[in-house]
Formats: sequence, C-alpha cells, structure tokens
Amino acid sequence: MKKVYIVKYGEIALKGQNKPYFERMLLGRIKSALKSISVVEMYRSDGVIYVEAAESESEDIVLSQIRKVFGIAYISVAYETVSNIDKISDTALEYIKNLLIQKNIRTFKVDTRRGYKQFPLKSPEISSYVGGRILKGTNGLTVDVHNPECTIYIDVRKDKSYIYSEKIQGYGGLPLGTNGKGLLLLSGGIDSPLAGWMMAKRGMEIEAVHFHSYPFTSERAKEKVMDLAKIISEYCGRIKVHHINLLNIQQQIAEKCPENELTIISRRFMMKIAEKIALLNNCDALITGESIGQVASQTIQGLVVTDAAVNMIVMRPLIAIDKVDIMDKAKEIGTYEISILPYEDCCTVFLPKHPTTKPRLEKIEASEKALDVEKLINEAMEGMETITVNP
Ligand code: ATP
Ligand code: MG
Repeated sequence: MKKVYIVKYGEIALKGQNKPYFERMLLGRIKSALKSISVVEMYRSDGVIYVEAAESESEDIVLSQIRKVFGIAYISVAYETVSNIDKISDTALEYIKNLLIQKNIRTFKVDTRRGYKQFPLKSPEISSYVGGRILKGTNGLTVDVHNPECTIYIDVRKDKSYIYSEKIQGYGGLPLGTNGKGLLLLSGGIDSPLAGWMMAKRGMEIEAVHFHSYPFTSERAKEKVMDLAKIISEYCGRIKVHHINLLNIQQQIAEKCPENELTIISRRFMMKIAEKIALLNNCDALITGESIGQVASQTIQGLVVTDAAVNMIVMRPLIAIDKVDIMDKAKEIGTYEISILPYEDCCTVFLPKHPTTKPRLEKIEASEKALDVEKLINEAMEGMETITVNP
C-alpha cells in the first residue's frame, strides 16, 4: 500500500490571483524542511501538496518536519489508490483493518470529497458503498454518522484517490518569505522568541539583534540566546543574529540621566540601534516581545516613549496576550525551557529601584540631551558581531 503525506493549506486557499505564488513558496518551504529526508516525490495538484517519502523514513519525523512549515492547515498520512470504486473500497477496508489492530474502534463513518466530478458515483454514494464493504469485511463495527470514533476520509481525484482518518493540525499562517523581513529584538526571555515566531508565521523572514553588557553579562547568556535562535530557525530557516554591546551606553545613562529613567532610555537606545541595523539589512520592520502592562517599561506611556525613538514600524505581536498564554505557547514551540534558564540579561544589570511607569516624551528627550546619542550609537555599532544560525 502506497503511503502519501497530504498537505492542505488554509489561508492560502483564499488567495485570488496570487495563489500560485503562495503555493510555490509553500512547496519550496516544505522542500527545505525535508532536506534531510529522502523524498521520492513531491508535487502540488488541485490545491493540495502530496509528499511521498522513502519507506525507510520515520513517519513521526516526516510529520514533525512538515508541521513546522507555516501556511499549512493540516497534514494527513494517506493510503493512495487508483480512482476506481472497488480499489477504493479494498484500500479503505485494509486501512481500517490496520487501524483496528492499533485501536479499539467500535463506530465509524465514511466521509467522501469528490474533487473529480466525472467520477461515476456521487460522494454520498461512494461513502455508503465503501461503508457497506467495511461492514461486511470486519467484525463488531457499526456506522455512526453523528459521533463516530473514527472517520474514514476519501479524497477522490481524477486518477488517484486517497484514504486517511487523521487530520494533524498545522500552525496555519502564510509561507515564510511572503511578507518581507523583520528584525527581532531578541532577549533571552520568554516573550521575544515567541514574538519572532508569530511574525514568521505570518510570512515574515526573521533576522535578530541581541544586546548584552559583556563582561557584566556572561558568555553563557549569549549562548542561551543562540540556543533560542536555533529553535526559532527550525521554523523559519537560517537566522542572522547581530550582537551589540550596550554596556558603555548603559554606563553613560547611569552616570548622566535620572536613575528612574535608566530602563526607558536604554530601551530607546536599543530601538534606535535596531532601526539602523534593520535599514542596513533590508528589514522592513522591528519586532519586539512587548505586552501591555507586563512590566514597568510596558505601560502605555512607556510604549509611547519607546515607540517615539524610531520611525520604522514596530510589530508587537504579544501586545494583548496574557503572560500565562505566552508561556503556554512558548512551551508548545519549544523555547520555554531555555528561556527560563537563569542567566543575567543586560536589562537586569542596571535596574533602577523605582523605574518610571509614566514617562513623558519631552522629559525623556530632555534627559537624553546630556548624552551624545549619535556617537554612542555609532560606537556600539562598530563593535557589532554577527553570527548566523542554521536550523
Ligand atoms: P522578553 O521576555 O522578551 O525578554 P520582557 O518581558 O523581559 O521581554 P523587556 O525586558 O521590557 O520585557 O523587553 C521588552 C522587549 O524588548 C523584549 O521582548 C525584546 O523584544 C526587547 N529586548 C529586551 N531586552 C533585550 C535584549 N537584551 N536584546 C534584544 N532585545 C531585547
Ligand atoms: Mg527580558
């Protein structure tokens, strides 16, 4: 019996004229996700992508690789047969017999989609014919059309038909690279890796910048960030991570600005430096893991003052997401366990005792007059180190 992975897409199916472009991009992304897998055949037909892997390949690995590709609604592992009602019935019977070995199923139904309208039987006729054959060929099964323990799906196409029972959910979204490139401000925390992942899910390629305060922050803190980048890269391909030492800037702020403004002014420097790096690397947007109300610098006033530091659009996909939900999602994508490792972050090195929660832009800009902002930024950029992370 020939096994084929059927990949169905959600939102791409709604695209009009641009659909072929999105489909091509998706196919390309699935190809790269499967680069370490021996693939016999992969093609797209009638809004579905079919993948046949060598028999020696593990089903779990193939599925988990395909599942990491954005733009997929669901994946099924199907048996392929020719589009002939007896062959379809034989295959469906064999399929459910195999399932019965693994699972105790008592009720089932057959659900047919007839993509090929010239097929001599209509969908309900196919379902009832195949259902009848299954009842005859097995023991103890009954049909339950409302609440079956198992649904046998049949996709009837022109030459070939596909039989499967499970629809494994993909992440949805759009294929990577269909929506420009964003520069992610990547800390070692829980939020920013997820923020990058979420924008990548909408088709945005990701590049990253990390700020450290070496030697106040350690080499291990940097490795932690690279480990996080590595996990994100499994979903969104190769990522360039730019490392910037913020120590001198933080020391200057600590020396020349009011203590309670240290965090907000540091954050404005981060944004300004990130904007420069973005412009140099063809990034169209900045991405942060900010979430309103989460910490002192993320009050509405704090966000307004942070935002005013740059002209470039800042994407904050977590802005309205609760911390518990962020944590759950981070666990799901695999970054959480690394994010909670207790290494120091540049923001925690100089933490004011009472950070201002209601900064005013004029007041902050006045405080910044004590610094040579341009010079400090240029010096920090000169020391930039860039490391590329591959999935
Ligand atoms: P995270 O969990 O992402 O670290 P956070 O809740 O700790 O976020 P802040 O420390 O206020 O919040 O940072 C807000 C955002 O600023 C982060 O989500 C990230 O995008 C960016 N950021 C903070 N620190 C750094 C850093 N050291 N390097 C790069 N970006 C940073
Ligand atoms: Mg943080």
